[in-house]
Amino acid sequence: MLQNGIFKVLKKKFEDKIIIAGPCSAESYEQMNELANALLPNVNLYAFRGGVWKPRTRPNSFEGYGEPALKWMQNIEKDHAIQSITEVANAIHAKLALQAGFTKIWIGARTTANPFAVQSIADVLEDFPSVEVFIKNPINPDINLWVGAVERIRNAGIEKIGLIHRGFSVVGNHIYRNLPMWEIPLEMMSLFPDYPMLCDPSHIAGERDLLGKVMQKAMDLAFDGLMIETHPTPNEAMSDPKQQVTPDALIKLLEQVVIRNEASDALVENLEEMRSRIDGIDADLLSLIRKRMDVAQKIGQYKKQNQITIYQKERWEEIRLSRTKIAKDLGLSEAFMKPYLDALHLESIRQQNSVMNPNGEKK
Ligand code: PEP
Ligand code: MN
Repeated sequence: MLQNGIFKVLKKKFEDKIIIAGPCSAESYEQMNELANALLPNVNLYAFRGGVWKPRTRPNSFEGYGEPALKWMQNIEKDHAIQSITEVANAIHAKLALQAGFTKIWIGARTTANPFAVQSIADVLEDFPSVEVFIKNPINPDINLWVGAVERIRNAGIEKIGLIHRGFSVVGNHIYRNLPMWEIPLEMMSLFPDYPMLCDPSHIAGERDLLGKVMQKAMDLAFDGLMIETHPTPNEAMSDPKQQVTPDALIKLLEQVVIRNEASDALVENLEEMRSRIDGIDADLLSLIRKRMDVAQKIGQYKKQNQITIYQKERWEEIRLSRTKIAKDLGLSEAFMKPYLDALHLESIRQQNSVMNPNGEKK
């Protein structure tokens, strides 16, 4: 497990968290020096980030300063006694960064989605077993690609592995740049309980006004830390200008986040009491659903005797509308009710079908 970062002013609050911050792209030594001067007295970072090679969707965008930027970041390490971390997207980047003295690197979302690229990095890492490697989720919501990347890096002999959740690229308009789909990082946490899971609210949110919400959610889900982009003049940034914040704004955001306790005994007791209520309610719900299905089976028998089709379009439409209205009045969302009603309807059809066609299709 990686050692946790320690804050100075915000030390107490974030003492168990790993905080990585820095610009999206390393733009100059002066830019990073300014950021380090502003951040380090307040926030004792675990590492200072900076993108040296930027994966851009279209060519002819700014693709990072490459090797000179590695040098600036190494100078920041020396001048501020803070370790640097940068993204490597292929074997050449990995070699250059590690030879330049980096002891921490991360693998970006586009690279995690590409097993060949991950393997080529893993092959280089075999000669650098003490390096810390953070692995971002793949851009598409396929947990197996994330798991596969972890396995490739681990198989290269790397022990210090961290995970970074940066959301998933999904077509359509959403409030976030990359959808969080929190269930995926949570599943990774249970598959790899020893690897810290950080959240990158910058790439999830895509704009600075949404950062606080995402940070809070990550802390409430017991993430182990945050990787956040910061820039002295965000609107002038060479990449990701909308989602970067000034160091002052970053410090404010960190102050505003509420870190909730994981568990004192009294809290656990209250929680246990509420959890057992939930257990009871779920048991009641399921037995009510069973009762509903018993009636559905009776209807099945009736329909069989009278030669009526299972699916009655108007009846289903009426159920859908009336239940959605009741649910809405009860404060339940349409996003919940739609798949719930569809599942209930399908199960009713299955149960009726089992009566009407006992030897037929079971699905
Ligand atoms: C970045 O951290 O600047 C970056 C390119 O991230 P991602 O791989 O999450 O897109
Ligand atoms: Mn970025």
